[in-house]
Amino acid sequence: MNTAHTALPTLFLSAHDVATLVHRLGLPAALDRMAGTIHADYLRWQAFDKCARVASHSADGVIELMPIADGSTYAFKYVNGHPKNTQSGLPTVMAFGVLADVATGVPELLSELTLTTALRTAAMSVVAARALARPNSRRMALIGNGAQSEFQALAFHHLMGISEIRLYDTDAAATRKLMANLAGQPGLRLVPCDSIAQAVRGADIVTTVTADKTNATILSPGMIEPGMHINGVGGDCPGKTELHPDVLRQASVFVEYEPQTRIEGDLQHLPADFPVTELWQVLAGETAGRTSAAQVTLFDSVGFALEDYSALRFLREAARELGLGQALPLIPALANPKDLFALLRAGAPALALAA
Ligand code: NAD
Repeated sequence: MNTAHTALPTLFLSAHDVATLVHRLGLPAALDRMAGTIHADYLRWQAFDKCARVASHSADGVIELMPIADGSTYAFKYVNGHPKNTQSGLPTVMAFGVLADVATGVPELLSELTLTTALRTAAMSVVAARALARPNSRRMALIGNGAQSEFQALAFHHLMGISEIRLYDTDAAATRKLMANLAGQPGLRLVPCDSIAQAVRGADIVTTVTADKTNATILSPGMIEPGMHINGVGGDCPGKTELHPDVLRQASVFVEYEPQTRIEGDLQHLPADFPVTELWQVLAGETAGRTSAAQVTLFDSVGFALEDYSALRFLREAARELGLGQALPLIPALANPKDLFALLRAGAPALALAA
């Protein structure tokens, strides 16, 4: 056999593989390991070569590339955000990503990241809330009951002890879908509400995870109560926000990577010198998170490349443990690395210069 036909193995994980992985581990354990991996990587903040993601905007959405690397591993995610997609049967958010070896550039893992993004975003929300919300938080409002919402609900239930979730979505069918999906979860009470104000009243934590390409006002200042933690997930793009600017002024604001959040987060409404804290500083014990029970804290989540690096790292480790995935012949292994043309000579006779 001509070795030009063999390929360097890239592990490929399909959406089905990742669903199987989560099923085999159990969703609470998968979320817990994801959150642990993200937390551990945030503690290595200085080890990463970081940049704001590269966004390509169009009339109805955005396509983004999210690269990051440490000394040994490079990762990127491709992800879109098209809120009108659901009207034509497509998800708002779709993604895939790669882990590569920094020393050689070999792509070692190619994985689906649509399901994984929902898991990692929920896990990241909990990493932030553990540091910022009141420790005895039990009641959460969940505004926006679409694709991400069940993951947020279950992460807060299993990892933070949230036992009551008050739901609101402009689309009542989305709320019914969430309630059907999470029916029978022991110790979790789901309460559909008629308005955002009703859902938010008395909540310890408020998660906003709506999708609309506009500067929406999901939360206004009158809804915010002392001690609340706001987990603002859906405002993640220029011109796509969820919070009245005065909500940010009422709160202590925590972000993933400040240069990216200034462009994409609800923070985009405020002047460039509005004070914020990068979450890694709180996790590393360099800065205080919550300092009093009455303080309002806000995690202005946009999704940072480090979380996808962590998610891919977790997937690779768990896939190896469980024997999941396939070897994908993505990159050719050449008998002579300078003879790329051998691929055409040996592997594709139709192209072999018929003349
Ligand atoms: P989705 O389209 O499946 O669901 C969004 C839901 O929001 C829909 O059910 C819609 O009816 C509802 N909604 C829209 N406007 C509303 C309003 N004014 N009040 C109440 N509900 C409203 O989208 P998804 O995949 O669940 O994503 C939700 C949002 O989260 C998107 O904006 C997405 O870009 C964002 N997101 C952020 C991160 C992050 O890391 N921060 C990660 C993934 C997704």
